[in-house]
Amino acid sequence: MSRVGDGGPAVRRLAEWDATDLLALAEEYDTPLYVIDRDRVAENCARLREAFPDADISYAVKAHTGQAVLRTVREAGLDAECASAGEVERAFEAGFTGNRIRYTAVNPPGRDLDRVVGRWQANPELTITVGAADTVDRLRDRGFDGRLCVRANPGVGAGHHEKVRTGANAKFGIPIERVADLAEAWAAEFDLVGVHAHAGSGISGDDLTAHRELVSRMGDLAREVESRGGGLEFVDVGGGFGVPYRSEEPPLDLDAVAAATREALGDVAGRSPAGCQAELGNVDATLSIEPGRYVVADAGVLLTRVNTVKEARDATVVGVDAGMTTLLRPAMYGAYHAIRNLSAGVDSDTDGEPNATGDRETVPVTVAGPICESADVLCEERPLSRPERGEVLAVGNAGAYGYEMSNTYNTRPRPAEVARSGTTVRLVRRRETAADLTELER
Ligand SMILES: *Cc1c(COP(=O)(O)O)cnc(C)c1O
Repeated sequence: MSRVGDGGPAVRRLAEWDATDLLALAEEYDTPLYVIDRDRVAENCARLREAFPDADISYAVKAHTGQAVLRTVREAGLDAECASAGEVERAFEAGFTGNRIRYTAVNPPGRDLDRVVGRWQANPELTITVGAADTVDRLRDRGFDGRLCVRANPGVGAGHHEKVRTGANAKFGIPIERVADLAEAWAAEFDLVGVHAHAGSGISGDDLTAHRELVSRMGDLAREVESRGGGLEFVDVGGGFGVPYRSEEPPLDLDAVAAATREALGDVAGRSPAGCQAELGNVDATLSIEPGRYVVADAGVLLTRVNTVKEARDATVVGVDAGMTTLLRPAMYGAYHAIRNLSAGVDSDTDGEPNATGDRETVPVTVAGPICESADVLCEERPLSRPERGEVLAVGNAGAYGYEMSNTYNTRPRPAEVARSGTTVRLVRRRETAADLTELER
């Protein structure tokens, strides 16, 4: 499709995945199966780099922590933003050096702080982002006096669902009006390198207003911190870059987001050497962003096999071997994922047109998993080429928060995952077994 290393198209739709290839993978590795395309991950990184040439870009690791993805992201030049000690460990394992790792502490368990501070002792370039004064006390108790970033709660949130809006949620960050005072005090003790905010997930063309507002408040904060003698290295405005889950949604205009970001930030960051820093004179920080979803969402699909087809009152109910334990987003957020019947060779989620073979009826289909919960549906009454038992469905945009949120409820082992790069396919996570699940019992 495109050379590795270039940015590729703005989006890869489910319809563009090769059905024959995917069916062969389902055959060889069985289902449910996650497929992640490393080349697409690299393209997504490259597009971000093109749109934000002067910015620090960190990948929010929690969207997909698989080593294949982390290594691809590292090779593409992005840094790693980690939400737990476990993620910090996985970033090191993937070859990120301490200077490319940021740990964002959210109500961190003591065990996490012990491990991250331990890592920091050997890697003093590692940065820790704090969202509460308590966390600073606890870091001090552990002897930490290194690179500190303060997470502000900017009072604005954005996101596709209430559960992913963090910018105005009291759980996250320090109320922005208190940050400058605290930062000034902490700068005496720590290496105060940054201020940070993350508004949540789902920046789209429609809610750039919220993004602008957040960024503008962060610009003001950075100037305030600077005017009190801070020497900020970066102003981090978070992630949340949206991806089109529905086939009719346009892709995010990254250049527009980048332009809005720079403009709203004001004279702080991400300037070319001849830029506008002179106007305010005193702030010379780099713009920093930390997308997760955008890097991996359209690089992954989930394959699942039909085991039951039955006529219900309003829809054909199609039972499959992937459920809310495999892909939690529909149950948790009511999220929409495109679904395609690979065996029928048709793109299912759009127009209800008859499929390529012409003999398959398009009917309203509810795709449901094997879990004893009514929330365990991947879609409801969606026009889909009528599946038959044994056929394979592909679920699109499953690269972000897919495998990552999978769980073992109902004693349902987690799926396998393969990573492809060019023509090479590798099993990167074996299928979990029932024995894996009971192994911890004593
Ligand atoms: C989850 C998270 C991100 C990434 O969010 P996306 O919507 O995946 O881009 C970035 N920063 C922080 C602090 C996060 O918690």
